[in-house]
Amino acid sequence: MAIKVTSAIYMEYIQKAADKITENKDYITSLDADTGDGDHWANINMGFQSLLAEKDKLLAMPIYQQFKRIGMLMMSKIGGSSGILYGGAYVAASKAVDGKEELNAEDLCKAYETMVNDMMERGKAKPGFKTMIDSLYPAVQVFKKDLAEGKEDTQLLDDVKKAAEDGAESTRAMEAVKGRASYQTNKGVGHLDPGAVTMSYQIATLCDCLKEHL
Ligand code: ADP
Ligand code: MG
Repeated sequence: MAIKVTSAIYMEYIQKAADKITENKDYITSLDADTGDGDHWANINMGFQSLLAEKDKLLAMPIYQQFKRIGMLMMSKIGGSSGILYGGAYVAASKAVDGKEELNAEDLCKAYETMVNDMMERGKAKPGFKTMIDSLYPAVQVFKKDLAEGKEDTQLLDDVKKAAEDGAESTRAMEAVKGRASYQTNKGVGHLDPGAVTMSYQIATLCDCLKEHL
């Protein structure tokens, strides 16, 4: 079977991503304590828990509406810079797949490309600024490339996951240009960006979840 994303599959992914975030509380908190104000785990966890609290409602919606509701919840429940960035990105993705009951690989790629573009515009950030974009952007680029080359689905999902993880790792050497890490004297060099790490958790979890449904 080909890549397919229904509301049920996406909620399964949300549950798994929430579990992964919960498991990494101390690690993510320490990353944000090193370069920011230490609240990133609490912010992102609050966002995912608010989605789980509305699980039944979200499950009943077609995927494009589900994305919109996820965006609204993230915008209102995640504190800090990431709330508005994730919230806006999901609302924009909803418009990109307007009216769709389920997504194929091309639709999903378009939704995630719309997300990263929205985040870059809203946050005035680009790849290389040591933010969550450094995980999401390369993942979307690989997704587009693999689709264009007609890569087999399992390989494509593995490639996208790896690009997100490598992207998060690449923030270690970067100097922060935006966000709280940019206020530090060494601009966070030598430390991973917490937002890039939680983004890579989400993308990796989504790829693994979609592989299980191939
Ligand atoms: P805050 O920085 O307000 O405390 P969080 O701690 O929840 O918010 O999120 C911090 C993460 O947000 C950073 O690690 C970075 O990945 C991301 N971030 C911060 N500013 C921007 C921006 N302008 N564009 C994209 N991502 C950003
Ligand atoms: Mg913070």
